Amino acid sequence: MNATIVVYVHSCLYQSVAMSVNWISRADRVKALPTYVFARLDELKARAREQGIDLIDLGMGNPDGSAPEPVIQAAIEALSIGQNHGYPPFEGTASFRRAITNWYKRGYNVDLNSDSEALPLLGSKEGLTHLALAYINPGDVVLVPSPSYPPHFRGPLIAGGKIHPLILKAEQNWLIDLSAIPEEVARQAKILYFNYPSNPTTATAPREFFEEVVAFARHYEIMLVHDLCYAELAFDGYQPTSLLEIPGAKEIGVEFHTLSKTYNMAGWRVGFVVGNSDIIQGLRTLKTNLDYGIFAAIQTAAETALQLPDIYIKQVQDRYRDRRDFLIQEFARLGWKIPPSKATMYLWVPCPVGSNSTDFALDVLEKTGVVVTPGNAFGEGGEGYVRISLIADRDRLGEAVRRLKQAGIRYQPEVLV
Ligand SMILES: *Cc1c(COP(=O)(O)O)cnc(C)c1O
Repeated sequence: MNATIVVYVHSCLYQSVAMSVNWISRADRVKALPTYVFARLDELKARAREQGIDLIDLGMGNPDGSAPEPVIQAAIEALSIGQNHGYPPFEGTASFRRAITNWYKRGYNVDLNSDSEALPLLGSKEGLTHLALAYINPGDVVLVPSPSYPPHFRGPLIAGGKIHPLILKAEQNWLIDLSAIPEEVARQAKILYFNYPSNPTTATAPREFFEEVVAFARHYEIMLVHDLCYAELAFDGYQPTSLLEIPGAKEIGVEFHTLSKTYNMAGWRVGFVVGNSDIIQGLRTLKTNLDYGIFAAIQTAAETALQLPDIYIKQVQDRYRDRRDFLIQEFARLGWKIPPSKATMYLWVPCPVGSNSTDFALDVLEKTGVVVTPGNAFGEGGEGYVRISLIADRDRLGEAVRRLKQAGIRYQPEVLV
């Protein structure tokens, strides 16, 4: 290679990693964000892969397998229709919105206006975060459970909100303790986020709890944001409650749902929000300035998913329940007693006493190549736990447990001194 080429190649390499000049600086709202834990975990996973380790990734809530066949077929057909290739309507197609409101009628006997009380989203993460931008001013007090799904606190953080964490505890079945919220904080609070069945704790909430939350929010004039993302992933006959079933909730709240989990459509990016039309209008106004909505072919596919016969839902439930039971049984042999989760696609597992959740997750990754998520990724209230996603078949889960056993990773209960 002659010298000129060497210099040229060198300068290209240099450019690809060039630092910015020092007068370009990121906005405070970006600087204030703690690293996204999944991004950090990705780094470590990449390093492990470079070393040739066969990773068993039970870290992210990313369902394994593809979307149901009728959904794929609907998408293919929709792809061949020319008019689907243009910009979709901002507010989603009328027929997808009707499929959403029909789904609520069928599942919860809740009546919704498909024009004003339902809005399709590019995944619920997008909607949750933009809702925060549409409603939270810098300094506004926002009530967010800890642990919780990261967009529930990162959205408010980006908006400059002041987060008052509601620390959840095992002794209270991971339910929000409304009586622990100081009067002063409750009076100032603008929004309360919550999520049952819960990621990451897997906790479910009885209907009475929803009634208490609605009464509390009405009393203190707090807007409610409920995330019902695990609406269908419930087991043993348990049927999750929708916020909108509670009388008076629709005047003060909205509820998010997604196609990502139940229908294995996480990569398609489609979800929706329903509830109070004024609240939804604020989000719609912001979004018309940010995006052009969801590819029409994906909306057609999502519509098909929401209309799938119950037998499909039952198969999905059986799959996760089977994995749940298998892992709980295998973990019991390693000393872990994990109460069976009534819903979601996770196990919420206490770390051996004395180890913090990041150290424990990293230790497991290094010794076994099994990826679990440290509980503190979901907020300080998740410390002492790791979340295991049930996103591999029995064989792979069995292999994960074998490796833990081989590495001598067991649950060490508290030693009394
Ligand atoms: C997985 C998950 C979602 C889904 O997010 P999408 O952006 O719709 O893929 C929403 N909420 C919770 C609590 C989740 O665990």
